[in-house]
Amino acid sequence: MTCEAWQTKLDAYADAELPAETMRSMAEHLSGCPACTAELVQIIQQKRVTALAGKRYSAPPELRARIRQQIEAKPARGGWQWALGLALAAVVVIGLGLAIVLPSRTAARNRLIAGVVDSHITALASASPVDVVSTDRHTVKPWFAGKLPFTFNLPELGGSPFTLDGGRMVYLDSRPGAHLIYGVRKHHLSVFILQDGGDFSRLLPTAAEPWRSLSFNVTSWSAGGLRYFVVSDAAPEDVSALAELLKRAN
Ligand SMILES: [Zn+2]
Repeated sequence: MTCEAWQTKLDAYADAELPAETMRSMAEHLSGCPACTAELVQIIQQKRVTALAGKRYSAPPELRARIRQQIEAKPARGGWQWALGLALAAVVVIGLGLAIVLPSRTAARNRLIAGVVDSHITALASASPVDVVSTDRHTVKPWFAGKLPFTFNLPELGGSPFTLDGGRMVYLDSRPGAHLIYGVRKHHLSVFILQDGGDFSRLLPTAAEPWRSLSFNVTSWSAGGLRYFVVSDAAPEDVSALAELLKRAN
């Protein structure tokens, strides 16, 4: 079986739902395949985060039971099988704690940021990028009232190079938020404002940090329970300047 075929079974494997024979062959494949093991660790990690949301750092007994089951399921023919089982258990446990979780966190954060950049690109590419077309923040802000479970302030732009084009609703990380589109010279900037929490607070910093994703400059920060993103193909200085205006307004 190819790794691709194995990986379609990983989810069921993590729940110990495969037939005993397949459970055994999977364990055997995992002991020699770092790619599938890394995938498995990520699946287990996700299940754990979901199942134990709110109970941070408590031991995952179902994982321990699963590992024990795997080890005990192996016929005690030779020491090497125990060694294999223990090696797999060690890989999973170390992966959960340290080695594999760190790179997968970075990957998850990059995916999150790529999703934000996608929303920026998709909106600008659409026929009507904004649902409320107005250059007046006193028109745009109330448009979101009743649509979002939070309020926010938009900055006064007088004396700045920025213009407000309007706003639309956005969904990021399965939560609703405000998407404001600004202009600076020939460029557009997206501002996303959502409630902080979940993957946002888990993967992103509190203080504004600049990133480059594809050819876009991105910055994100958290303040007053809200998560802010600014995305643009404009210069990083423009992205930071708009971020500063937003910070001062809130
Ligand atoms: Zn594999």
